[in-house]
Amino acid sequence: MNAVLQPQRVIPEWQVALTSAFTRPADLLTFLQLPPELPSLKLAQLRDFPLRVPRGFAERMEKGNPDDPLFRQIWPSTDEEQVRIDFVDDAVGDLKKLKPGGLIHKYHGRALVIATGACAINCRYCFRRHFPYGETRASRNRWRALLDELQADATIDEVILSGGDPLSLADDKLAELAEGLDAIAHLKRLRIHSRQPIVLPQRVDGPLLEWLTATRLQTVMVIHANHAKELDGEVAAAMARLKQAGIPLLNQSVLLRGVNDSLDALKALSERLFECGVLPYYLHLLDRVQGAAHYEVDDADGKALLQQLTGHLPGYLVPRLVREVAGRPSKTWIHW
Ligand SMILES: *Cc1c(COP(=O)(O)O)cnc(C)c1O
Ligand code: SF4
Repeated sequence: MNAVLQPQRVIPEWQVALTSAFTRPADLLTFLQLPPELPSLKLAQLRDFPLRVPRGFAERMEKGNPDDPLFRQIWPSTDEEQVRIDFVDDAVGDLKKLKPGGLIHKYHGRALVIATGACAINCRYCFRRHFPYGETRASRNRWRALLDELQADATIDEVILSGGDPLSLADDKLAELAEGLDAIAHLKRLRIHSRQPIVLPQRVDGPLLEWLTATRLQTVMVIHANHAKELDGEVAAAMARLKQAGIPLLNQSVLLRGVNDSLDALKALSERLFECGVLPYYLHLLDRVQGAAHYEVDDADGKALLQQLTGHLPGYLVPRLVREVAGRPSKTWIHW
């Protein structure tokens, strides 16, 4: 026996979990005990934006229910084929603003980084579903360009890591980026926009917390959940780990027809978030992206829901209803 002991790179548990994500509609239907003939886009139509659902997220769906609010968010239904001329590919005008390092600087003081195009889950309503990430993603050798852009603009004091999902990147890459940001004197805050603590709670592990707490920057994490059922015990535990590390937690949701467009659903979501130590931040009206029209809730219905919610919850559990309007200097608050 002359086995040579070599230091092996341990593959993190979350990366292992991702390898068993559902990617074929037929497999997901079998798992959920749904009829195989439930209409979905063909595999060829799904080439650019495939089905993708981590197993742990699928386990939170109700078996045999095609109207399950979690299932509805990820199922590539044939409704996506509806073409609407008012639903476009770049609904929020990001492409025009994108800089070579992957930076989108639209609002005063804060700049958003497209850290990667990859996500653990593919949400069918996503406004980035048509984004040409291949050409724009900030890969490791682009960090330099990005850091130079940030260094050159002292009006920026907050950097938002976004994507895609920034936590799709390995922790060594993120740690390297965080270190680079740390060294830019005018930066004060580092914000992470991620859905992974929800869809892949194993992602909140030791190495992640290590770089997140090592920085001198104030950190804040904005997670993304649309329905109370997304926050199961494992998600609550992941939130507890983040809280323990001193990271403030906020949530953004999208108002989605058939998912959370009722008083009960929105109320339960806010209450469940708070149980997990998370405050509701934004409730977005849908971005009008091609293929997502079947998720849209009328503005008037959205306003009425928010008015009702305000009558049922303390003010700190009512998210702000917002829409992104290309060219505006911030999200647009929708008042009712
Ligand atoms: C939404 C968004 C932000 C963050 O806006 P806040 O109101 O600060 O949450 C920043 N940059 C871009 C490009 C955005 O789309
Ligand atoms: S995780 Fe976020 S960026 Fe990724 S598909 Fe879902 S909504 Fe879009």
